[in-house]
Amino acid sequence: MARKQKPRLLLHICCAPCASWAAKCLMSDYEVTLFFYNPNIWPQEEWSKRLAVVEKLAGIYNLPLIIDDSGVEDWLIMASPLSQEPEQGRRCQLCYEWRLRQTATRADQEGYAYFATSLTVSPYKDREAINQAGQLVAKAVKANYVLTNFQENNGYRHSIELSRQYGLYRQKYCGCKFSLSY
Ligand code: SF4
Repeated sequence: MARKQKPRLLLHICCAPCASWAAKCLMSDYEVTLFFYNPNIWPQEEWSKRLAVVEKLAGIYNLPLIIDDSGVEDWLIMASPLSQEPEQGRRCQLCYEWRLRQTATRADQEGYAYFATSLTVSPYKDREAINQAGQLVAKAVKANYVLTNFQENNGYRHSIELSRQYGLYRQKYCGCKFSLSY
């Protein structure tokens, strides 16, 4: 009997450590493509460093990877007035939504049935706000947002273990220049 084809899912990934666990959770049910969309990472050398590790992970998992570095000027216009907000504050909520909107748009353009994000791996992120943002941006596209809680079943710990196993760089700050001072 022919094996049932898995639906295609575009997985927004914030970094390789979170992606290592998020992709592992989704790969059994979906045909996963990794989508590195975080042009707000600062400085440029850090963006390149995180991308290099993501490329390494894509090779280990044998998954396709899409890289998009567009839109940082728009992000700065949106986020700069909120530079003093704490992590998980209003700036971060807009940042989740901004990255997920681009993911949803890309998923739609390229015919993916689903999209999701690795952002819910981290206990430093507001999981409910991330999932609300995903559901909100999904209203404008045909692709469906997959609600996730990658923190459950010790997901964050698994991401640390996988990073050790594969030798993945783990950054010490979220990404944008405003998060460097936390
Ligand atoms: S701290 Fe992280 S989630 Fe918040 S605005 Fe900066 S990059 Fe985005």
